[in-house]
Amino acid sequence: MKTVSKFLLIVSPFFFFSCKQVKTSDSFTAMNTFMTVSLYAESHKKGNNLCNQVHEKIDQLEKILSTTLEISDVYKINYRLPYDFSNDELKNLLDFCMETYQKTDGAFNPALYPVIREWGFTTENYHVPEPERINELLKNTDFSKVTYSSLADGMELDFGAIGKGYAADKAVELLKSQGVKSAILDFGGNIQTIGCKSDGSLWRVGIKNPWGQGAACALTVEDSAVVTSGGYERFFEDENGNRYIHIFDPATGYPSQSDIESVTIVCPRGTYADALSTSLFVMGSKKAIEFWKVNQDFEAIMITKNHQLIYTQGLKENLEPLIDFNDVIIISKNQDEF
Ligand code: ADP
Ligand code: MG
Repeated sequence: MKTVSKFLLIVSPFFFFSCKQVKTSDSFTAMNTFMTVSLYAESHKKGNNLCNQVHEKIDQLEKILSTTLEISDVYKINYRLPYDFSNDELKNLLDFCMETYQKTDGAFNPALYPVIREWGFTTENYHVPEPERINELLKNTDFSKVTYSSLADGMELDFGAIGKGYAADKAVELLKSQGVKSAILDFGGNIQTIGCKSDGSLWRVGIKNPWGQGAACALTVEDSAVVTSGGYERFFEDENGNRYIHIFDPATGYPSQSDIESVTIVCPRGTYADALSTSLFVMGSKKAIEFWKVNQDFEAIMITKNHQLIYTQGLKENLEPLIDFNDVIIISKNQDEF
């Protein structure tokens, strides 16, 4: 007994000294998004270097995924410019997209770009197209026809629904490979955490209040992606006050009119969380709950237009409402009423 405590006494100061970590934060704009990286490393020098590496990585990814950057891989594919189709990164991403397109029954569709552009969401020159025009363009949005090296006439790709989540995954991969054990990345509302806080407590993340300032809920997580899609993020209104949001229902070619105001997905991978946040928004709460019951590989928080807070049981100990909701509903796997 005596030997053990002596050992601890001698070892612990050394242990704490060798593990001393300092926090470094850096912010930059990439992918049209204000991004912040906060991480713990053994020195500020190392921390700054890691933040710069993340920034460089995101810039690289933007040069692959952007729909508007003329040098990007996606741009070259969409505009049928010379392209050698040797980019594994894009091929793997397309494989993931195909799987998710099938799994979500088409709610997630990265081939909607011709329709989304027609509504003016790429130029902010918004207008409501004629129904005939939408139907005509919808013919070019069958993602099941897409293969890596061939895109049928009139088709175009858009990774806007997963770009930030994918970038966060790649950033986490990079930081973990360099020994980072504790970090939080905020890519414009896409949160990704490595481990927990340096003091061992969980990260506390706010879910935005769709109707006002501040957070609607607080969520504690570790080693997770937390990705929110909200109807309040980007939209325009017509002269009658109808709101058209940037999340589209691929079945109609119109902005989603589901009962959801915002949906947040919590799971280890940011790419999956980002794809699902967009998809579950389109599905609406009822279908989204069925989807969760079948898949069970993520947790979800939905804030509905009629001020309900609906979340899955895995978050029971982690979610705290911060505003008044009409209803707070926790979904469990065997519950029938949804
Ligand atoms: P944001 O990244 O703006 O926070 P999302 O992750 O929900 O929000 O992605 C929305 C973007 O995804 C849109 O701007 C558009 O480019 C694209 N998009 C819209 N609807 C869909 C859809 N049903 N499937 C795939 N991509 C979509
Ligand atoms: Mg998304």
